[in-house]
Amino acid sequence: MERLAAARITARRQKVTRYEVIIIGGGPAGLTAGLYTSRAGLRSLLIERGMFGGQMANATLVENYPGFPEGIAGPELGLLMHQQAVRYGLEEITTEVTGLTLTQGQLYGVSTAEGDFEAAAIIIAAGSEYRKLGVSGEETFSGRGISYCATCDGFFFRDQEVAVVGGGDTAITDALELSRHASKVYVIHRRDQLRAGKALQEQAFAHPKLEFIWDTVVDELLGNKVLEELKLRNVKTGQQSTLKVDGLFVAVGLMPNSHIFFDILDLDDAGYIITDEMMATSLPGIFAAGDIRRNSPRQIAAAVGDGVTAAMSGFKYIQEQGNGIRTANPQADGKS
Ligand SMILES: Cc1cc2nc3c(=O)[nH]c(=O)nc-3n(C[C@H](O)[C@H](O)[C@H](O)COP(=O)(O)OP(=O)(O)OC[C@H]3O[C@@H](n4cnc5c(N)ncnc54)[C@H](O)[C@@H]3O)c2cc1C
Repeated sequence: MERLAAARITARRQKVTRYEVIIIGGGPAGLTAGLYTSRAGLRSLLIERGMFGGQMANATLVENYPGFPEGIAGPELGLLMHQQAVRYGLEEITTEVTGLTLTQGQLYGVSTAEGDFEAAAIIIAAGSEYRKLGVSGEETFSGRGISYCATCDGFFFRDQEVAVVGGGDTAITDALELSRHASKVYVIHRRDQLRAGKALQEQAFAHPKLEFIWDTVVDELLGNKVLEELKLRNVKTGQQSTLKVDGLFVAVGLMPNSHIFFDILDLDDAGYIITDEMMATSLPGIFAAGDIRRNSPRQIAAAVGDGVTAAMSGFKYIQEQGNGIRTANPQADGKS
């Protein structure tokens, strides 16, 4: 913790504005990238607007991250990754990045409420956020019956009754995934047909555990300590009803945290940053890693892998630019 505090203070007190690498976002992708760049001797700054650990901090138990046979609580995994990242001199600051610009001399400018910074290479690891239903009870029961990730939490609903809200590919994939654990899966959709692909629809309609509730929205989430009941409304008839469930999976979309990059980087239609397999974006020296990039499987292990690739690509880029490398050992981050 002392090291951590020292690194934080260093970034503020010295009012240093120039780094070799700036990493935006302190989830698993950003923390891993920071571990690798700082361990490779690059002067690196990690900027996180909230809690280090990112979305992992919301995961009650992570059972699919290798190395933890009994699983590990998400916040604990985040803390461990954070401690490991700052061990090699990664500097950090808690503030929100509000803009990214190209400055003179091929450096990139990063604007924050705490001041402006510059770096030769940028790694964007700002993740994405699950779209919420925005109804009463959602915050109260989040993690207490409400989940936004079937792959992560489906296992906890073995032999129980759950519902999925949504009608796209993600919702139907989630419903099918949940049917492996749950005894019953309701799919609640506000329209009278699904948006999901034909093959998925066929599988879903043929599945004995799935039941569809059409033209319906969730108005309220009720329960005592945990979620117990959904208040539903048919959008065509206005008729209200209730449904008892043990779990609710919200699959109404994700929002990548990419709005501040849309005018300088190539994004896909859904707003995800387009990268190649080396995590390079449409601008030289800017790399993207983790959930924010197109085609990410949105899992911790994948974000960690992206972070490694982005860091090594950043290292190579800076080396090629001759932009102030301190160690000339690109293998330093890859050999142990
Ligand atoms: C409830 C829940 C349970 C999950 N369980 C599992 C699981 O069991 N196994 C699994 O593999 N995956 C799980 N996931 C998914 C996993 O957490 C994500 O895939 C992973 O965290 C993505 O990592 P990331 O670093 O790309 O982004 P994130 O973890 O989203 O981190 C991005 C960080 O960037 C910060 N940020 C965003 N914009 C800015 C800005 N402008 N300035 C500064 N900082 C910014 C955010 O505050 C955030 O901390 C779960 C997710 C949730 C929500």
